[in-house]
Amino acid sequence: MTKLVESMEFEPEAHTRPFWEAARADRFEMPYCDSCSRFHFYPRPLCPHCGGFALVWRGAAREARIVALTTVYRAPSPVFEADVPYTLGIAQTLVGPCLFGRIIGGGETFVGMAVRIDFEHSPGEDRVVFRPHAPPE
Ligand SMILES: [Zn+2]
Repeated sequence: MTKLVESMEFEPEAHTRPFWEAARADRFEMPYCDSCSRFHFYPRPLCPHCGGFALVWRGAAREARIVALTTVYRAPSPVFEADVPYTLGIAQTLVGPCLFGRIIGGGETFVGMAVRIDFEHSPGEDRVVFRPHAPPE
C-alpha cells in the first residue's frame, strides 16, 4: 500500500545538506567541479560530467527558464490540499543544470518563461520556488 506524505519535513543527506543550509540563508549554491569547471545539480558525491571528486559549493545566478511544467489540481496528499491548484516546473539555470520547484507569483505560466530561483521557508520546510522574472533587455 502506498504511504501518503504526511509532512514536508525531511532530513537532508550529507551531500545535499550544503544546498539546504545555503537555501535556508537565502543563498543559491550548486555543486561545482574544479576538475572540469562545470556546475551540476542535483548534488551527488562525484561530478556527473567527468567523474571527479573535486567538488565545491559555489553561488550561481538565479535566473532560469522554465523547460517543463504541470498544474496539479488534485492534491497527492492531505498536506497539499490547501494549495491546489498549483504549478510545478523544471527550470534550467543559465549555467546548465535544472531544478524542480513550484512556480509562484500568479499569472500565466509557460515553457520558456523567465524565472528567478528563490526559496520559501516555513517551520520544518524549505523549498525551491520559481518567481516570474523579466530579464533585462
Ligand atoms: Zn567534473
